[in-house]
Amino acid sequence: MNIEKLKQDQKAVVRLLENSYKKGRLVHAYIFEGPRGTSKEEMALYLAMMLVCKQEGKPCMHCQDCHRVLNNSHPNVVIISPEDEMIRKEQIEQLLYNYSLTSIEDNNRVYIIKEADLLNQSAANALLKFLEEPQENIYGILITENINKVLSTIKSRSQIVSFQKIDYEEIIRRLINRGIDEEVGRILAHITSNEEEIVSLINEGVVLDIIDLVKELGVNFLTGNKSPLVSFFEKGKFLLTETKKLNSLFIDILIIFMTDLLYYKISNYQNICFMKTIFEYPKYITLSVEEISKYIEELLSYRNRLEYNINLELFYTEMMLVLAR
Ligand SMILES: [Zn+2]
Repeated sequence: MNIEKLKQDQKAVVRLLENSYKKGRLVHAYIFEGPRGTSKEEMALYLAMMLVCKQEGKPCMHCQDCHRVLNNSHPNVVIISPEDEMIRKEQIEQLLYNYSLTSIEDNNRVYIIKEADLLNQSAANALLKFLEEPQENIYGILITENINKVLSTIKSRSQIVSFQKIDYEEIIRRLINRGIDEEVGRILAHITSNEEEIVSLINEGVVLDIIDLVKELGVNFLTGNKSPLVSFFEKGKFLLTETKKLNSLFIDILIIFMTDLLYYKISNYQNICFMKTIFEYPKYITLSVEEISKYIEELLSYRNRLEYNINLELFYTEMMLVLAR
């Protein structure tokens, strides 16, 4: 974990938590909320280290406690993540059961719940009971990108800490310095402002296929050379067996392409992500701002539908027909 970067990117949050710790004013439940890629998880680990490190200048980052937090192997720091896109009651009950077993000791204990908006109703209820009677030495950190989807009863029992987006052009500079193509960097920095996440997305490879697919669809959409439906099933079939997350990433990137067309129409060129592609086909960008906005609205509604269990093949057939002009 790059602590200097964390301190630079999330100055206000680091200061808030460090001060609360020093003054003994930490609360027992925090919600770390903010857009993707704003170092919420890193901050959660940092706070966990602060709470379990026994050295001077906590967290020292060097002792065994700190190391074990960083390696996800500290017995007093539990991380709960969604299983099948849901956090279940059993996961919370297991945590609370473990807390009930061990006797009260001096050591602090921390639980971190990732994607806390995915707590299902019964899991949330189990957690609520616990939050109503906070135990000394036990601290919870709930992380979410969708604070609006977190139950209000949970919000009211926690302190909400908001994480701000990192300056976009600064991320682009960092990515270019790491040898990443500017166009790819601009596109992905719209999805997440976490540099490391962007680099690992690129290394996994699928995201580059997705960007190529969007370019192909986008160019055909503009030129009318080939129907989007045909080009999707020629090049995009791999998406049908991919995760929901990658499928929504695809629609997000398609929306970025459409938004670029809008920027082009209003001569807001510096905001365009698909720089190479868009500037190659200027004479085909004949749609009006209103027409482009309609397409974006359609795509947004399709993106929302992805949250439900759907037949992807049918879903994309419909969606591509909407894109046929
Ligand atoms: Zn330490």
